[in-house]
Amino acid sequence: MRAASFAIVLALVGCHPEPAVQAVQSCEAFRLPYPAGLQYDVLQGNGGSFSHFERNQYAWDFAMPQGAVVAAAGSGAVVDVIDGFTVGGLRDELRTRANTVVIDHGRGVLSQYLHLAPGTATVRPGQLVVRGTPIAKSGHTGFSSEPHLHFEFVDPVGHSLPGCLGDVSGGVPKQGSAYVSANRREPSDRNPLPIISVLPSRAFELNGVELQSVVPARMHGGALRISGRALWRAPYAIAFIAERGGGTVRSSIVRVTDASTFELIMNFRGVAGPYRFGLALMENAAQFLWKESVPVFVVGP
Ligand SMILES: [Zn+2]
Repeated sequence: MRAASFAIVLALVGCHPEPAVQAVQSCEAFRLPYPAGLQYDVLQGNGGSFSHFERNQYAWDFAMPQGAVVAAAGSGAVVDVIDGFTVGGLRDELRTRANTVVIDHGRGVLSQYLHLAPGTATVRPGQLVVRGTPIAKSGHTGFSSEPHLHFEFVDPVGHSLPGCLGDVSGGVPKQGSAYVSANRREPSDRNPLPIISVLPSRAFELNGVELQSVVPARMHGGALRISGRALWRAPYAIAFIAERGGGTVRSSIVRVTDASTFELIMNFRGVAGPYRFGLALMENAAQFLWKESVPVFVVGP
């Protein structure tokens, strides 16, 4: 069932070779990430000095208690679910250990929900959800000072995007204010289309690679033919899947042509779970360095 819906996603994704949207344009498409009628304070807003800068600049922290229902802010496809972590606190090693749900709204806009309570996710990668659907319960996992929900819009590479919400006066929640949600399914809401965002051509430019083929932003299944261009001289190019903590679990290496292009096939079969994926150049066939990779959730057998 999941494999079937993913095949549809891959077929449709070709219609959108490059995300055109660099910010969340329609406030009306999105609501606060908790059910209608509930009200929570904003502990930290956009640009908050505690942790909302650089890649997390446009995030919000809502003071939701342990076990409060988290709802999809907009309609889309669930592309990432992590809910096995149990520990929260302010130790550095917890930065990569927050339970997370990510929903892809298409055209390069994704929403992510962090610090969720262990074992509470009620959605799975590949599932299509309508705005307002309960997706998990709020918690205190990962790098977190107290139970809360960290919510933000991100691009396919994982960088924070400015966003706005249709049930917030002025669109952008402010630190120190409280907001009542109007996040409920409206009669006019349609089921989302099975379209997911694709990686921009510049996704791996820090690694010296320009992407020249269509690659889904987050979910992968089966084998994918990938083409690219080397931005500086190197004999080999590599596609890799790595543990979110570090080690490479699979790679595909090819020679770069005299025209600085390459084409390879990356096989995602047989790897299951949350990983990072990237393309990079190699000075020799034994080692490579990379600065940029993107989260990827490998689906299927
Ligand atoms: Zn936060």
